[in-house]
Amino acid sequence: MSPRDLSRRQFIAVTSATLLASQLPAEGVDLKSDDATKLAIEGGSKSLKNPSQKLIRWGEPERERLLSLLSQSTLLYWKAPQTTLLIQRFREHYPLKHVMTCSSGTAAVHVAIAAAGIGPGDEVITTPITDMGTVIGILFQQAVPVFADLNPHDYNLEIADVERKITSRTKAIIAVHLAGNPSKLNQLKQVADQHGLILIEDCAQAWGAAYQGKPVGTIGHIACWSLQDSKQITCGEGGIVASNDERFGQRLQPFADKGIDRNNVKQATEILATNYRMSELQAAFAAAQMTRMQGIAAQRAKLGNLLTREIQGLPGITAHQVDERDRCSYYSYILRIQPKFIHCGREQFVKALNAEGIAASAGYIPEPLYKKPLFQNHSFFAGRWPIREMGLTKMDYTKISCPEAEAILETCVLIRINQAMDEDYIRGIGAGIRKVTRHFTA
Ligand SMILES: *Cc1c(COP(=O)(O)O)cnc(C)c1O
Repeated sequence: MSPRDLSRRQFIAVTSATLLASQLPAEGVDLKSDDATKLAIEGGSKSLKNPSQKLIRWGEPERERLLSLLSQSTLLYWKAPQTTLLIQRFREHYPLKHVMTCSSGTAAVHVAIAAAGIGPGDEVITTPITDMGTVIGILFQQAVPVFADLNPHDYNLEIADVERKITSRTKAIIAVHLAGNPSKLNQLKQVADQHGLILIEDCAQAWGAAYQGKPVGTIGHIACWSLQDSKQITCGEGGIVASNDERFGQRLQPFADKGIDRNNVKQATEILATNYRMSELQAAFAAAQMTRMQGIAAQRAKLGNLLTREIQGLPGITAHQVDERDRCSYYSYILRIQPKFIHCGREQFVKALNAEGIAASAGYIPEPLYKKPLFQNHSFFAGRWPIREMGLTKMDYTKISCPEAEAILETCVLIRINQAMDEDYIRGIGAGIRKVTRHFTA
C-alpha cells in the first residue's frame, strides 16, 4: 500500500509508528532509566555516547610536499612544480582547460567577475545567504549585487526569482552551492543562456559536490573554489578559478597577477588587476590536500545523507534537502526548525542539542547580506558608492527583501559534520535531535 492509498489519519499513524520504531534505542543501550527521553540539559544522559575521532586533516602527503619545496630555487607560482602539480591534480576532478591558483576564494571570485568583463553599473544576481567573498569582487568592479530569493529547503537560488530580477543591466549570475549542496545548475544555465548571461559557480563550500553526476564547477562558464581553513580541503588561505570558456579562460591568469600576461610579459598592461597570486608554499600543501578531496567529500556525503534519514519526517523539523541525483559534500548540515510546532526559542533548542553533545549552532550568518550596514548605508568606498552617485545604478538596499532567505536565517540550525565522524556518531546526533524535538513539540 503506498501513502497515496492511505487516509491522512492512517498515514500519520503509520509514519509516526515508523518514527517511533526508528527512535528505539540501539542494542546495548541501557533501557532502565527514562534517559531515552529526559533531556541532557535537564540531567538526562547525553545522546552522543561515543566521542568523534579526532579530526586529523594533514600528515604524510603534506609533509612530503613541504619538504620537496626546500629544494626549489623559487617560490613564484608560474610554471613552478607545486602549482603545476596542484593544477594537474585539480584537473583530475575538474576537467577545465584554464585554471588559475589564487590567494583566496574571495580573490578567485573577483578574478572571475573581472575576467567576465563585468563593469560599472552592471548587475550580478546572487544569493543573500553567503560569505561576503561572493560579493566583494562584484563591488570592487563597481558592479551591483542583486539579491534573489532562495528555495526554502535547499537554501540555493530560486530560479523563478532569479528570472524576476533580470534587467537590461544584468550580466551574470553567481550560483553559490551553499553548504556543498549543488544549485539547480541546468535551470540556471538555461536562464543564463536564454538571456545572454554569464553563469559563475561559487564552489567555495562545495569541494567534491556533484550535480546529477557532474562535478559542480564544470557546468557554468567560470567557477571558483576556496582553500581557506574552514573548507573541506585547505592550504590555510587560497583559491582556484577555472573555466573552459575561451572568452574568459585566457584572462584568469592576468587578472590574478597585476595584469601581467605571463605568456607574454613584454606586452603592455591594459587591465587594472591586483596581486592575487598563490605562492608555491600554499600550492604544495593544496596539492597534497587534493589527494584527500574525494574521500572527504564521499564521507561527508554519506554522513549528511544518513543524518537526513535519521530526522526526516520528524514533526517540527525540516531536514536539509538534497536532490537524490546530486552529491552534497556537507560543509555543514543545515536543518530548520518549524517555530509553529517547537515550543521554545531557537537558542534554547540549540542549547539542548549542545547538552546532548551535538555541535550545533543557531543560524549561519546573522542576517542576509543586504541587511548589513555596509549595504543599508551604500557606504562601500570611504562612505560613498560612486556608481550610485553617478546614476549608473538606482539600487537601494534599504528596499530589498528576500522573505525566504530571511525565514531560513531565522529558523536554521547548523550541525557540524566532518569526515572524522562515523555512522554511529551520526545516529547519536539523530537520536539527540529526535529527543530534543519531541520534548519541545510534546
Ligand atoms: C569561504 C567562502 C568564500 C571566500 O573564500 P575565502 O577563501 O575565505 O576568501 C566565498 N564564497 C563562499 C560561499 C565561501 O564559503
